Amino acid sequence: MKEVPETVVCPGCDAVYSRAPLKPRDVAHCPRCGTELDRHPGQQERRILPLTVACLIMFAIANLFPIVEIELQGLRSQTTLAGAVVALTAEGMSLVALLVLATTILFPFLQLCILAYLLIPLSREHRPVGFALLVRAMQSLRPWGMIEVFLLGVLVAIVKLSSMASVVPGPALWAFMALTVMLTAVLSFDPGAFWGMAFRPKGEALPDEGAGEGANDEKGGASA
Ligand SMILES: [Zn+2]
Repeated sequence: MKEVPETVVCPGCDAVYSRAPLKPRDVAHCPRCGTELDRHPGQQERRILPLTVACLIMFAIANLFPIVEIELQGLRSQTTLAGAVVALTAEGMSLVALLVLATTILFPFLQLCILAYLLIPLSREHRPVGFALLVRAMQSLRPWGMIEVFLLGVLVAIVKLSSMASVVPGPALWAFMALTVMLTAVLSFDPGAFWGMAFRPKGEALPDEGAGEGANDEKGGASA
């Protein structure tokens, strides 16, 4: 099949347009059905690698330090995320433990590792081995990372427990909050941009956000 990288197909109505260069903050919409076709990446490509590294650091803190410390009648008890998984298994809730392990530790960690593996060589204009497979794998892992759901559960538990015992949020809880926000930013990166980065002619500069550019209004679709 012939590859036509300079065209864009509307995901909403299948109309084909030739790709027009976008200015910073420009968004191209399909004139026929209004679906978003493309948007200027801005500084996203420059930010995603530092954000991924920061996510990995937060992930380490979130897993190594205690999430909460509970004090009840002089008895202190604290737990880490892995400790919660072990406790769930010990209580006979192996399926829940497996889900917590997969959605809050395994899948987010895999996603971050794949991102780092892809982005470090790409920043040096080198396409890593297994590029296509890993970009697809990352897309399929995306719905399985549920750190925000876990965080919400922990916050509800802390509020409920605080009436019965003294609950002190641990460093991991703050790290989880930061991780949730940063991971959302990292995972909102357009997967199409990976292909653009990997197949960009060598030596071509990253798209720069013009300092003097004012806010452009939303632009109509690319030329038909
Ligand atoms: Zn359309």
